[in-house]
Amino acid sequence: MIDKEVEKLIHLEALRHKEDLNLIASENYPSKEVLKACGSIFSTKYAEGYPKKRYYEGCEMADEIETLAINRAKELFNCDHVNVQPHSGTQANMAVYLAVLNSNDSVLSMRLDQGGHLSHGSKVNFSGKIYNFNFYGVDRETEMIDYDEVEKQAKSVNPKLIVCGASAYSRIIDFNRFSKIAKSVGALLLSDVAHISGLIAGKMHPNPTPFSDFVTTTTHKTLRGPRGAIIMCSEKFKQSIDKAVFPGIQGGPFLNMIAGRAIAFKEASSINFQKYSKNVVSNAKVLSEVIISNGFRVVSGGTDNHQFTIDVSTQGYTGSEVATTLKKIGIIVNKNGIPYDKLPPKITSGVRIGTPALTSRGMLNDEMQLIGNIISEAIYSRDDNKKLDSLKSRVKDITEGFSFPGYD
Ligand SMILES: *Cc1c(COP(=O)(O)O)cnc(C)c1O
Repeated sequence: MIDKEVEKLIHLEALRHKEDLNLIASENYPSKEVLKACGSIFSTKYAEGYPKKRYYEGCEMADEIETLAINRAKELFNCDHVNVQPHSGTQANMAVYLAVLNSNDSVLSMRLDQGGHLSHGSKVNFSGKIYNFNFYGVDRETEMIDYDEVEKQAKSVNPKLIVCGASAYSRIIDFNRFSKIAKSVGALLLSDVAHISGLIAGKMHPNPTPFSDFVTTTTHKTLRGPRGAIIMCSEKFKQSIDKAVFPGIQGGPFLNMIAGRAIAFKEASSINFQKYSKNVVSNAKVLSEVIISNGFRVVSGGTDNHQFTIDVSTQGYTGSEVATTLKKIGIIVNKNGIPYDKLPPKITSGVRIGTPALTSRGMLNDEMQLIGNIISEAIYSRDDNKKLDSLKSRVKDITEGFSFPGYD
């Protein structure tokens, strides 16, 4: 039996991706091989526990696939131990907290409204409800992390754990400095590289593993794997991390996703992936430069990684207005707060722009030039429907030339 309703929606979703320009910084297109593994028979298997220590029979292949994923991740990120079972980035962080914190323990992390993540202590998230989070932000002038200020705060808060890493930060993160700050106050360091792990694998961003007690990352953002996450740590924390994931916060692992992760780690260790990462960063640079040259302000003045945030308030627009306008012409972004934003999260003064997905489609600097100009013109002419129609057809001219893996 064919489920026509679901089939149609899958088809329309693929078509939407084909005809739109996806600039959402956290999204990407994994390879066909990864998608195939995720839909494979491994989705059936119950394998609670870890390789060779399962609570079910019939785990021989499960053991091999999980061991393969672990070994590939260890090599890719150069670390002692990897847990490949977390279902999401939030759960990876949850497991680290469960492994090392008691309720009400002090933690220092980046403010959500200046680039941090919900799972870094937001009041509406379990993390903010269970633990005592304190926050650092970015400098008002440079809009970059002020490490001296982080150090000052660490001294006054005396946290048990410091969390670095962000969802909307366009500059290189100095893990060595974070490590020194954590050591100086006797805190552990968790580096959450959900957004940038692909750039780390592709050698476009320093690797946090030598400097961190724990590193968490999603596998579906710049890393271009299936949804889910991994936790990396030293031998010393191996047992407590594994116990925290299972039986601590999860039941059976999703072996189909672990199979997909194993493939993604292999792909990410290739020379081709290094080229891809270089193009992701170069595309973000070019795109931000074009947008700046058209009169817009970009938070912190530019980008060193795969993303940046345009401050549209200087021209009197809001983030939600601009996101809606761009959607009309087939450009998909998300509204995003800027540091010290005066507008609430549902409106915001900015839009976040990322290049991983378009770069996976094969787009390069020339396309970024065109797209930067289209975005700028669309914002300036948001009430001019005729103009927007012509911009929409320019978007279509670009997307027609580029498919993506999984679209047939
Ligand atoms: C995306 C992200 C996560 C969590 O990812 P989910 O898989 O959506 O739970 C965690 N931390 C950071 C910094 C992120 O950007």
